Amino acid sequence: MIEDRERELGMMYEPVIGLEIHAEIDTQSKMFCSCPVVDNTTAEANSAVCPVCAGMPGMLPVVNQRAVEYGLRVALALGCEIAPVSIFARKNYFYPDLPKGYQISQYKEPLAENGILRIRTAEGVREVRVRRVHLEEDTGKLTHVESPSPSGRGARGEGYSLIDLNRAGVPLLEIVSEPDLRSAEEARIYGETLRNLLRYLAVNSGDMQKGVLRFEANISVRKAGSTEFNTRTEIKNLNSFRALERATLYEIERQSELHRKGERVIQQTMGWDEARQITVSQRSKEEEDDYRYFPEPDLPPLTVSGEWLAQIRADLPELPEAKRTRFIAQYQLSEYDADVLVAELEVADYFEAALAAGIRITPKLAANWIIGELFGLQNRAGVGLSSAGVSPQNLSGLLNLLEAGTINSSTAKTVLADMFASGKSAESIVEARGLRQISDYEPIRVAVAQLLADNSAEAQQYRDGKENLVNWFFGQVMRSMKGKANPQVVREELLRQLNG
Ligand code: ADP
Ligand code: MG
Ligand code: ZN
Repeated sequence: MIEDRERELGMMYEPVIGLEIHAEIDTQSKMFCSCPVVDNTTAEANSAVCPVCAGMPGMLPVVNQRAVEYGLRVALALGCEIAPVSIFARKNYFYPDLPKGYQISQYKEPLAENGILRIRTAEGVREVRVRRVHLEEDTGKLTHVESPSPSGRGARGEGYSLIDLNRAGVPLLEIVSEPDLRSAEEARIYGETLRNLLRYLAVNSGDMQKGVLRFEANISVRKAGSTEFNTRTEIKNLNSFRALERATLYEIERQSELHRKGERVIQQTMGWDEARQITVSQRSKEEEDDYRYFPEPDLPPLTVSGEWLAQIRADLPELPEAKRTRFIAQYQLSEYDADVLVAELEVADYFEAALAAGIRITPKLAANWIIGELFGLQNRAGVGLSSAGVSPQNLSGLLNLLEAGTINSSTAKTVLADMFASGKSAESIVEARGLRQISDYEPIRVAVAQLLADNSAEAQQYRDGKENLVNWFFGQVMRSMKGKANPQVVREELLRQLNG
């Protein structure tokens, strides 16, 4: 009995998770030199490198002001306290992708501290504390090749590595949360919410496939109800939300199992093996001391004036939370609709542009058609809103035809699919394909009478009590009128003649 209870209690472990997020800052040039920031998936390797970012001796770094400004945008949006003076430091370690032998990063005195990110989970709104936001530089990129090198070295199959320094020195923003997250799902939602915020602020494209956002999850578990912080592990380089959630969940379960068995969790740095869907140990965690941090002697302290900060604050766009509140109040949208529409700035703007172009369309109608039909077409085609052929003005034109009764809603779906493929306006498609709705009473009366005459047996069955036959009759009339009849008029006339 006691064993059972203990086992039951032992199963009740609570995850404790803190996330570190590295976001490349979307500037024209690198953090400390004037090399351009190039797209790593298309640019030729080592085509954007200079003596500064290649780590040549005697080269001096200069801070990219735009990168600082973008970092401040994020810090302000997170409600952080901004440091009037922050300090760059050298974080020393050796790795082939780090030509200088150190990374310039803010350490003891970061750009900003103590912010909040509000996230929405199934349980409601949670406030996750942000510990710090700091600036640093990215490393180069190594590609490991498993075959012998062209020079013949590694001919016995050990392979070789290629180094691309295009990414070395690209501005990075590191955003570190407090250990406030309590499930793998919350960790994912926090990551998604932060990604959306960065996109609203136009500081990061959020293009996960290009590696511009990388997550590190710090995870420990403890007995539910306890307030202690147990030993944690850290999973590095999570490049998708799926990987973030899966890896976190896996690690929670692995650690819970260790606790259950009375074994120790070892503090270590881990990786996520995508193929095997497990976390794997990479190394024991390095201590701060290992890095021999010291203030960067080649850079003065970074000062942020009150004036500059006020300017950046004044230029901040409307943020997702504020937009959500406004959409609900101004357009009487449901919370669900508002959430979906504001998640991407592009979608929110599209929605408002469609409303602005519309004469009769209601916000709810526009929201339904964007979230339902348009998203459906996009998903099937695998494209985003920007590449879709339906401009907000054209969507609004379609919905006006629908509201005016010129077309019925099933025709509207057909027309939208055509608009999506051709980029044409709803009006031109409706005219060209002769899709105007028939609301006139006379042709509908004639079609219904003809149908009942042709199917007198079914009509009798209906009158004998088989009432759901009315739906079959309805479908037949709509088909005979090529889907263009006003469904309401058809239904009324059908009932009138069947019952009359
Ligand atoms: P480091 O500097 O070694 O990476 P920090 O103490 O700065 O470690 O914390 C890094 C991240 O780990 C933060 O996001 C923090 O919230 C999280 N963290 C700290 N302690 C724990 C813990 N016991 N369990 C889970 N996460 C933790
Ligand atoms: Mg860390
Ligand atoms: Zn450079």
